[in-house]
Amino acid sequence: RSFSTGGAEDYIVKSAESIEPFQKSNYTENLLIDSHHWSHRVALECTLTKKATTYGRLRDQVARWGGYLRKLGLGKGDVVAIVGPNVNETSPVVLGAGAIGVVMAAINPTYTPAEIADQLSDSNAKLVVAFSPLEPVIRAALTICKVDIPIVGMGVPADTGIPMVSDIFDDDRIPFADAIDVSGSDPLSILYSSGTTGKPKGVVISHEAASINLAMLLHPSTLFPGLLDREGPQNNFLMLLPMFHVGGLFGVHAISIHKGVRLVNYAKFDPKSFLRVLEDYQISVLHLVPSLLNFLVSSPQCDAKVLQYVKSILCGSAPMSNSGLTKLKEKVGRPIMFQQAYGMTETMFVTMDPINEEKVGWCGKLMPGVQAKVVDVSDPSKNLPPNIDGELIIKTKSQMSGYLNNAEATAQAIDADGWLHTGDVGHYDQEGYFKIVDRTKDLIKVKGFQVSPSEIEEVLLQVPGIQDVSVTGVPHDRLGEAPRAYIVAKAPPSKKSIEEFLSSRLSENKQLVGGIVFVDALPRNSTGKVVKKQLQQMKPRGD
Ligand code: AMP
Repeated sequence: RSFSTGGAEDYIVKSAESIEPFQKSNYTENLLIDSHHWSHRVALECTLTKKATTYGRLRDQVARWGGYLRKLGLGKGDVVAIVGPNVNETSPVVLGAGAIGVVMAAINPTYTPAEIADQLSDSNAKLVVAFSPLEPVIRAALTICKVDIPIVGMGVPADTGIPMVSDIFDDDRIPFADAIDVSGSDPLSILYSSGTTGKPKGVVISHEAASINLAMLLHPSTLFPGLLDREGPQNNFLMLLPMFHVGGLFGVHAISIHKGVRLVNYAKFDPKSFLRVLEDYQISVLHLVPSLLNFLVSSPQCDAKVLQYVKSILCGSAPMSNSGLTKLKEKVGRPIMFQQAYGMTETMFVTMDPINEEKVGWCGKLMPGVQAKVVDVSDPSKNLPPNIDGELIIKTKSQMSGYLNNAEATAQAIDADGWLHTGDVGHYDQEGYFKIVDRTKDLIKVKGFQVSPSEIEEVLLQVPGIQDVSVTGVPHDRLGEAPRAYIVAKAPPSKKSIEEFLSSRLSENKQLVGGIVFVDALPRNSTGKVVKKQLQQMKPRGD
């Protein structure tokens, strides 16, 4: 993939490739545009229910779900929330909403009721589609946010009488809804991200941004060749990344449905079933996060036999170790394609290794159509030449429209010229490869998932006795990073009571696996802001 770094006077890196935009404005239509060529092929397979859905049936389900939403009086701009693991209903529910202009807010199913309540009320959802076993959690969330909206179940049957998505799909009294024309800027999805600072915010992704991101992924310099062979055997993708993450919804899901792949929905990671699924479902394309790649490396049960069908691995979402990759390749024992990718919820895919041009230790070149600059952290007006670290700034047509109902945070993230500040620190080289080395933003990535330190700090400040607190990420073998709290308290509460307080309010990834350290005072700069980089050098307070 070619690129240019502009003249020495500007140092703006531009991908020289262009993308072929889709003709339709509606993302669902674009995704399914070729699907009639392979109606009989399996689109979705569920490792939980063992059920399969063909592409022909998927199209019908998408149209039926749109019809159902219309019957409920929902239409363009209304928001439906989805809370659940990857099951076969997820895809038609998401696509059926998009087809009629309804916006999907995807929420992490491992969240506590309070966390879910925040996002249900922030997104102003009018309906929740939830994994049936989560119904009590959703009810508790609705009580917390004092919202009374219907729940529809999916995945496994519910014994509480709530309507089930699978019954709705089969109800031929509900008329099919055709996809509507939208304007490119109309919202398609809301995914939550804390961005460079503060608590999670709703990232609004438009139909156009999602379609452009798909076109980038389909570019011949990006897409794994031989993905679709209309006559030959189908490729099997593993839908392991969740739909509430950009890599799941707009990465794996998008490519595989567009290309007629068999998408194997894997509901919840557990070490044993993961390896079995890889072999039993003959997974040929794997999109991973570094912690899962490390799991494959360290698991003695993961061998060349388990990985025998894998042809291509893509890894992104957090920094990855080179040695892990080398060991995995040794395990596979034959040449496979490997790509590393970098991106964020706010931008979707930004860089990726071009096909067969992997450069180990780097996270690839700019995706087609993307522009980037690396600016001096202390003087953002200064663009830096190759090989010098600075903040990475991006301009791409796949970037978010903005944060939901938060013009201030949007203006902080995207400047007047449309450049988006990533809060990531890194550099590019003479060949146009990018490397991420650090972050200026206040973010922890646990297993590749975002954890906002301010969200944990806010809860810890409610613990009786805690006077001041700052949370930061520390390296962790299995999780990549783990949250650690530095706490100031005159009469410190026990660590156990702090942990219990936190676990009753925040979900698993936000627990203090990185530890609790009591200190005399937090390091603050002249404006009173905690200097997080200094936290790890702090001496624990001597009692
Ligand atoms: P998310 O919005 O959850 O996808 O998180 C985006 C953030 O994850 C980025 O801003 C980076 O800090 C980090 N990230 C994503 N991909 C990579 C990568 N390949 N290497 C290092 N950090 C990454």
